[in-house]
Order: sequence, then C-alpha cells, then structure tokens
Amino acid sequence: MKLLVTGGAGYIGSVVAAQLLEAGHEVVVLDDCSTGHADAVPAGAPLVRATLREAAGDVLSEGFDGVLHFAAKSLVGESVEKPGLYWDKNLGESLALLDAMRAHHTPRIVFSSTAATYGEPERTPILETDPTRPTNPYGASKLAIDTTLAEYARLYGIGGVSLRYFNVAGAYGAYGERHTVETHLIPNVLAVPLGRRESVSIFGTDYPTADGTCVRDYIHVVDLAVAHLLALDACAPGEHEIFNLGSGSGYSVREVIDVCREVTGEPIPAAESPRRPGDPAVLIASSAKITDRLGWKPERDLRAMVADAWEFIRS
Ligand code: UDP
Repeated sequence: MKLLVTGGAGYIGSVVAAQLLEAGHEVVVLDDCSTGHADAVPAGAPLVRATLREAAGDVLSEGFDGVLHFAAKSLVGESVEKPGLYWDKNLGESLALLDAMRAHHTPRIVFSSTAATYGEPERTPILETDPTRPTNPYGASKLAIDTTLAEYARLYGIGGVSLRYFNVAGAYGAYGERHTVETHLIPNVLAVPLGRRESVSIFGTDYPTADGTCVRDYIHVVDLAVAHLLALDACAPGEHEIFNLGSGSGYSVREVIDVCREVTGEPIPAAESPRRPGDPAVLIASSAKITDRLGWKPERDLRAMVADAWEFIRS
C-alpha cells in the first residue's frame, strides 16, 4: 500500500514507518519536526516537513491507500497549562487531515489514541466499552478525535481504527525515544546510569498497590508496530473500531526500576517523592478485543523493553 505516516519523525511514528517499509509498503512521512527529529525518519521514506493543515491536502492529492496518524502534542502537564494548544494541534490538525482524506478519497486511517481517554478507571483491566472520562485536555483532545473518526466513518465511508496505547517502551534498533522534555519512567531511570541524572524520582509511595507505587501496563514499541500493520488490514469502509493495546498485566514503578538495575548492572539511586498530580494508581488494559479480532498478542516482556531502550540510548 501507499501510506502516509503523520508524525513519522517521532518515537512511535518512526518505528512504525520503519516496519511498514520492511513489510514492503511505500511510505511518505508528514511531520513539522516541532518535537520529532528529521534524522529519525527511516531512509526510504521521503519527509514532507510541514503541519497537517499546511500540507495534508497536497500530499494526499497524489493518491494514498491509507494514513497512520501519530502527529500530536502529548505532554499531559503542558495540556493542562495550554488547553487551547492541544485542541488546536490535536483536534484541529486532525480535522484538516480528515477533510483532506475525504477530498482525495483516502480510504483508511489508523489513529494513535491513548489510555488517557479513560481517565481514572473504575476497574481494571480496562475494556474498550468502559466509560471515557479524561482528566486532562490531552486525553480529552484524543477522545474527541476518536469521536470524529467514528462520524467520518459513518458519514463519508472512511475505514478507521483507533489504537489506545497504554505505556509504550523499548526501541527498534536505531529508532527509539528521544524527547526533549522527557517525562516517561523508563528513559528517566536509564538517564541515571548514563550520567544524565543523579537519581530517579519515584512519584508517590502511598498508592493502594502492593508496594505503594503506581502500576502501569507496559508494551514494547515493536509489538505496538505489529498491531498497526494488523489494524491497517482490518480497516473496513464506513466502520470505526477502537482497540486497547496493552499486555493485561502491570509493573509497579519500583519493579521497573529493579529491572533497569538488572539490565544495566548499575545501582540506580531512587528518591521517594510526592505523587505527580493526576496519576491513577493502576492502569491496565484488557487487550482481549484485539487478540480475538485481529490475533494480536504482545510478545516482548519488560526486560526486552528495558534492554532495547538501553541499547538505543547508549548508541
Ligand atoms: N514516574 C516516576 N518517575 C518518573 C517518571 C514517571 O515515578 O521520573 C511514574 C509516574 O508517576 C507513573 C509511572 O511512573 O506512575 C509511569 O509514568 P509515565 O510518565 O512513564 O507514563 P504515564 O503512565 O504517565 O503515561
């Protein structure tokens, strides 16, 4: 297929673009490189350096079989401070993309949604049919895009799949996580043995969990990429489907730090710190739907995620 990858200069977009190329697809990347890196775009995928509003129409007028849509602002704290930016960049730019798809008859889209659409869950593991009550503008803007996709599928026959990611980690060879502002746990822990930080902060040790720290459902970015390829084939005209992507089980912050210590062979000091506002105690996905419908299953464990991330950040 001829595919447009928006946000293909970012972490997950670049991994998926690389895997699409390896699977034999033709890939064009559209990214304004505001947070991504031009040198992360895989060789073999031309980069159009522009926003979706500026360029989605022109690019899609060449005729594409589908879009994988990763381009977004994704910092929860920033979204609370600048909600307008998140509505504009996430929902507004996505609308421009969808209207360009409509105008140029692009038949399918796989969208990078998030567990943040669910907010604080009433129960875990979270099912796709559970209530969506996002607790910040980032999650709200992603949920609004999911809703818009459902409408564009119903009204204009586009086939859409939203994949709701839980905690993505790991790397794929030369493609990995390189955020200027790094908020994620695993890269922050690995920054210590690299000498970039003195210790890692554990945000909250009084949660109602076995060791008092938050539990999250981590999935390897390569398993995530595999799900995108399956989702692309599953897009049905006029239908919009939502699938969670997680492993169905979780690790606490302390457990993650311990695995990082094992993989790196370094002591990695950890400082117990106050809770980070807005963090639910436990976030675990049920991935039963995508397993039943598309045959997807995560294959790489936390150790593999940490080992691949460690290899990537040291290179
Ligand atoms: N966390 C932490 N120290 C850090 C970064 C994150 O203790 O330096 C915790 C955070 O409070 C959460 C978990 O690790 O409980 C995962 O956070 P991350 O930002 O990686 O992902 P999120 O679950 O917020 O999407």
